[in-house]
Amino acid sequence: MRSPFETAERQAFRESVRSFVEQEVTPFVDDWDEAGSIPPELHEKAGALGVFGFAVPEELGGIGFDDVFMRRIWGEELARCGAGGVGAALGARSISIDPIVKHADPSIRDRVVPEVVSGRKCCSLGITEPSGGSDVANLKTKAVRDGEGWRLSGSKTFITGGMTSDYFVVGARTGGAGPAGVSLFFVEWGAEGFTRTELDKKMGWWCSDQATLYFDDVYVPQTNMIGPENLGFMAIMQNFNLERVALIAGCLGACQTLYDDAVSWARERETFGKPLIKHQVIRHKLVDMSMRVDALDGYLNQVCWLINEGESPVAEISKAKVFATKALEFCASEAMQILGGAGYLRGNRVERIYREVKVMAIGGGSEEIMRDLAARQMGL
Ligand SMILES: Cc1cc2nc3c(=O)[nH]c(=O)nc-3n(C[C@H](O)[C@H](O)[C@H](O)COP(=O)(O)OP(=O)(O)OC[C@H]3O[C@@H](n4cnc5c(N)ncnc54)[C@H](O)[C@@H]3O)c2cc1C
Repeated sequence: MRSPFETAERQAFRESVRSFVEQEVTPFVDDWDEAGSIPPELHEKAGALGVFGFAVPEELGGIGFDDVFMRRIWGEELARCGAGGVGAALGARSISIDPIVKHADPSIRDRVVPEVVSGRKCCSLGITEPSGGSDVANLKTKAVRDGEGWRLSGSKTFITGGMTSDYFVVGARTGGAGPAGVSLFFVEWGAEGFTRTELDKKMGWWCSDQATLYFDDVYVPQTNMIGPENLGFMAIMQNFNLERVALIAGCLGACQTLYDDAVSWARERETFGKPLIKHQVIRHKLVDMSMRVDALDGYLNQVCWLINEGESPVAEISKAKVFATKALEFCASEAMQILGGAGYLRGNRVERIYREVKVMAIGGGSEEIMRDLAARQMGL
């Protein structure tokens, strides 16, 4: 849809991202997904586009400004490749870099940020634990003071990029029970007592890895604490806002892809003597999909605009994420139905996106948790 928010600068950015995705990503996603990984050089190619450098100062390798609409464009256009695992594999660093840029000790920030933003190194966010991911305030990984530093013990799971990342932003309990006892730490792969194993076969996102991380009395110096002691919960929640915007944008790009593929198929395929698209039932399905794409597009614009204005629209982000995953569920189901048996075969975008609906509805805050959060923010 034409939009007043799509300025000439953003349009140019969209075109460069779109051509990157069309040339460097989409033709290869079937092979990458079957192989279970993306090529390491893709990280640096994406880094060269500047897409990891939002809100990162130029002296740290970033682009020196933030624009949530551009973040959205990157997420949306990348999702058009039809394999969410690519966005997950590349995006792990985007959901973990902000706390390092904003709150890490300069000795860590100045060394690590340029490597991550350029795509040379990966960084992951470690919040979810084997005992649960929704109740972040109750996380159990412990950090205990040891001289000038801390010793971490516990475990994280479902950590995207966890098998390949060099750097980790980890939530751990430094104080009493609840949100006021949580701090964030920077942990490097290679630290003594830090091990990891890959999660078993998954329903989707095949070309990204997810790991369980084990911290067995891992020592980190005081400088590795990110932000003030016991104020990590707030930083985790703020970080979630942009992660969720990226997930909403990913849902929008996937919905558009489902619509495009369903329209192409419906034009090509004939049943009962005419193209599928000439059957009213099919046309209605396509309109119902398109209506959700338009509504999600407008909703996301509103959310991006509020964040660009300096607001923290937690209720709107939460509601938009539920709206996005429900739209994706609907579009995936209808596109699959329109493709019929052809959609059920491995190696097409509709089949893959259909398998990837649930990770969007669970990861980064599930639909239930998003509704709960929205309700609290709305004073219900
Ligand atoms: C592919 C993938 C990649 C991921 N990547 C990362 C990552 O990089 N870093 C990271 O930290 N985490 C990651 N996660 C974890 C993800 O954030 C969690 O799965 C999510 O937060 C839900 O936590 P859980 O799976 O432990 O479910 P639980 O918290 O155990 O909840 C189980 C179910 O119960 C529902 N539920 C829980 N509490 C309530 C309630 N009060 N009322 C109603 N319903 C409730 C939940 O919505 C959910 O549907 C990833 C997950 C997946 C699947």
